[in-house]
Amino acid sequence: MVTTPQAPPSQAVHPVYVIGGGPGGLAVAATLRARGVRAVVLEKSDAVGASWRGHYDRLRLHTTRRLSALPGLKIPRSYGRWVARADVVRYLEAYAEEHELEIVTGVEVFRVERDGTDWVLHATGGRRMVGSAVVVATGYNHTPRLPAWPGRGTYEGELRHAREYRNPVPYEGKDVLVVGVGNTGAEIAADLAEGGAARVRLAVRTVPHIVRRTTLGWPAQRSGILVRRLPVGLVDLLGRGLARFASPDLSAHGLPRPDTGLATRTRAGAVPVQDVGLVAAVRSGKVEVVAAVEALDGREVVLADGSRITPDAVIAATGYDRALEPLVGHLGVLDAAGRPLTRGSRCPRTAPGLYFIGFTNPISGMLRELARDAEKIARRIAKGRR
Ligand SMILES: Cc1cc2nc3c(=O)[nH]c(=O)nc-3n(C[C@H](O)[C@H](O)[C@H](O)COP(=O)(O)OP(=O)(O)OC[C@H]3O[C@@H](n4cnc5c(N)ncnc54)[C@H](O)[C@@H]3O)c2cc1C
Repeated sequence: MVTTPQAPPSQAVHPVYVIGGGPGGLAVAATLRARGVRAVVLEKSDAVGASWRGHYDRLRLHTTRRLSALPGLKIPRSYGRWVARADVVRYLEAYAEEHELEIVTGVEVFRVERDGTDWVLHATGGRRMVGSAVVVATGYNHTPRLPAWPGRGTYEGELRHAREYRNPVPYEGKDVLVVGVGNTGAEIAADLAEGGAARVRLAVRTVPHIVRRTTLGWPAQRSGILVRRLPVGLVDLLGRGLARFASPDLSAHGLPRPDTGLATRTRAGAVPVQDVGLVAAVRSGKVEVVAAVEALDGREVVLADGSRITPDAVIAATGYDRALEPLVGHLGVLDAAGRPLTRGSRCPRTAPGLYFIGFTNPISGMLRELARDAEKIARRIAKGRR
């Protein structure tokens, strides 16, 4: 890996710029390099894999080691089937080394503009870089999203986004409310309950699909891959049947089975929650399910059922925004929800040479999809140069 805090040297033939040094950006750079195309990764933090460095301590991949590897380097067997967060970081570092990637750290790209057939990138310190193509790999989980709850600005309690959560130590003996039951909220609630918080409540607006990570040794991810291309209605039906014996019934604890299908939910952006401790914690009463948060009022949190509670801390696992508007919004390449209109080897019609990777949340595992999309993008760019 070549990392340098300076601007990359100017080139007679413009390189392909890859914005973001996470798994998606690294995979694209490696697959381009393998095809003889010069790719420069621009990463705003000081190292690759920034998002994985910042995740909570106990996180492990919920996709299997074999189905999470990026092109051209296996994840070491010694990392086990469910790879730990720190090992994901080690793997990404090794990946950049192995492929001798050209990475410029400490450079944030603020805006991308078209200039004839080239692309101009405006970045940290007034840098202006010209690329023959650009791959945007800035991450699905880019900017922490906190709901605009009434009273948020004057809330007197401790309120943090889940991105800031590392481990339960600061919450020992405390009464904590976790808001949101995606994979992150579910795992943080379980972590707090196991780690000594005095009371853990989980505020739920929409009941999630909860699946076991494996059933009789069969990983949920493999099922996701098998059903991925089937019609949504059929997968919803299969999921309903399967849930009766593969998913626990937590109705008595405030988590009834969802009334919308698993695939319908996934299509709307909500992948099922993989159980890594929540089910046991809810069953044992260590995590109490409560209604959604409606507002904050002084020291109190107002819930949708009208009750008011006063936790010591609120952790909002309420998701992230893509935040692509300042970067590429002016190019007409985003939909109304701010997501790229294209993915993989396809470019927006109005922006040939502009690619996006990592902006979907598939049931088959994002790392697996990143690896596949990287190959497609590299193939397309390399073909265009011949
Ligand atoms: C808690 C959690 C657990 C996950 N677990 C799994 C799992 O088990 N299996 C799986 O397949 N997927 C998982 N994912 C989903 C996905 O695989 C990861 O989020 C993965 O890191 C996505 O890679 P990425 O490269 O698209 O984005 P990121 O990893 O977010 O990388 C984006 C990079 O771009 C940089 N950047 C952003 N903006 C700019 C800019 N303007 N200029 C320069 N640099 C910029 C960032 O600093 C960052 O390094 C998980 C996600 C989360 C949040």
